[in-house]
Amino acid sequence: MMAEESRPSTVVLCDFDGTLTKVNVMDYIYTRFAACGMKFAERWARDELSTMEELRQTFATVQAKRPELEAAISKIELVPGVEELIAFCKDRGHGFAILSEGLRWYIEYLLDLHGITGMMVYANEIFFEENGFKFSFPWFDPRTPLRGTSKQAIIKHYHERGQRVAFVGDGRSDYEAADVADTVYGCGLLTDYCRKEGIPVVPFADLNDLMNKWREP
Ligand SMILES: [Mg+2]
Repeated sequence: MMAEESRPSTVVLCDFDGTLTKVNVMDYIYTRFAACGMKFAERWARDELSTMEELRQTFATVQAKRPELEAAISKIELVPGVEELIAFCKDRGHGFAILSEGLRWYIEYLLDLHGITGMMVYANEIFFEENGFKFSFPWFDPRTPLRGTSKQAIIKHYHERGQRVAFVGDGRSDYEAADVADTVYGCGLLTDYCRKEGIPVVPFADLNDLMNKWREP
């Protein structure tokens, strides 16, 4: 088979925090380790700050080092059904990748703890340095200037390659993704947003419910 033909016609792109985890990992870190707490995250939620500013300003008040942060987040649970969802997509010949406005570091750390490896993860990057933290945003796109990782630009990239995208998400950083995805599976704030904007959405209660409601995008 030629490489072109082996590209899956459908790709499932899935948010991480709150969709595959029981709690938002970033909020968990902020409330436990940042002297400023949720101050900048709350401004981000009002669209007053970009993700880049939120991360830099909040982590500037974090004293903890990487091992301490990892020990704390190792207690965060994935929601039931993550491995089943990945297997479900594979069985159907769909691509699967994680699309997150969080940090690739903790996503891979948590997946690895649960024996899930080799996932494609689009997310923001953190660097642990002697005197603090640095960040980079390899998936930034100027068309979504408030976001570090432009979920919308990544979906459009799949579209340009002729692939259809089913998007799964729950929150504010998923809105621009829902605007362009071929099918949206939503819970939480994302469902409310889709209904308000007239975007068709398949609401789901949990990942097992999502797999039961699966329709081809
Ligand atoms: Mg989320």
